[in-house]
Amino acid sequence: MSGRAGGGWRLVLFGAPGVGKGTQAQAIRTRLGLVHVATGDMLRAAMQAGTALGLQARAIVERGGLVPDALVGAMMTERLAQPDVAGGFLLDGFPRTAVQADLLDGLLAGRGQRLDRVINIAVPEPEILERLTGRRMCSGCGASYHVRDLRPRVEGRCDVCGGSLQQRADDTVEAIAHRLGVYQAETAPLVTRYERAGVLLTVDGRGRPEEVTRRILAGLPGWDA
Ligand code: AMP
Repeated sequence: MSGRAGGGWRLVLFGAPGVGKGTQAQAIRTRLGLVHVATGDMLRAAMQAGTALGLQARAIVERGGLVPDALVGAMMTERLAQPDVAGGFLLDGFPRTAVQADLLDGLLAGRGQRLDRVINIAVPEPEILERLTGRRMCSGCGASYHVRDLRPRVEGRCDVCGGSLQQRADDTVEAIAHRLGVYQAETAPLVTRYERAGVLLTVDGRGRPEEVTRRILAGLPGWDA
């Protein structure tokens, strides 16, 4: 049997916008039996539902900024207290700041837990720009496509759920430039923190999605693919 004895992983998918965190999350969550927790998806759902959080987040998300730590922290404190993540989780898009990383460490330490791995997916910036400007997302299930490299079977429709494909409001050239700047300033410094903590796994995010998945699984200790 493949897998790891002794229960679920606590993993973070890390990397700049557009490196393929969402795509890899879909591939490895089922393999490892983990609950996928993506702060971007949660914020977009709140925006769509028009909740108080969604209303506060909308303008910030659309111009590519970071939603304040206090809001994201409260959202994640509540989410990580749910019983479904007790058996392991795959965080995607969180933490993005030192304050969020401190909060996560504190939440886990309170339960005698720690992160197993922070998977840092590395892709050169010109390729990131190409990926994000061509990205289209399903408005129904969030599946990701690309106008040239990953086209749906039926133009404009999601292969998975049939939902309509749209460009994200923050995938414009201006918002992308802002998001990459914010990533370098606020998020990239966390790489050193996790490297020092001995949990960093850096993988090359170029090539076919299946190849990247293989590299990730090969880097997880004790995982027998
Ligand atoms: P993503 O889907 O991960 O690219 O996130 C989309 C947008 O949601 C980001 O550009 C931010 O505006 C916001 N967001 C997602 N996760 C966080 C976070 N951990 N902290 C602050 N803002 C976030």
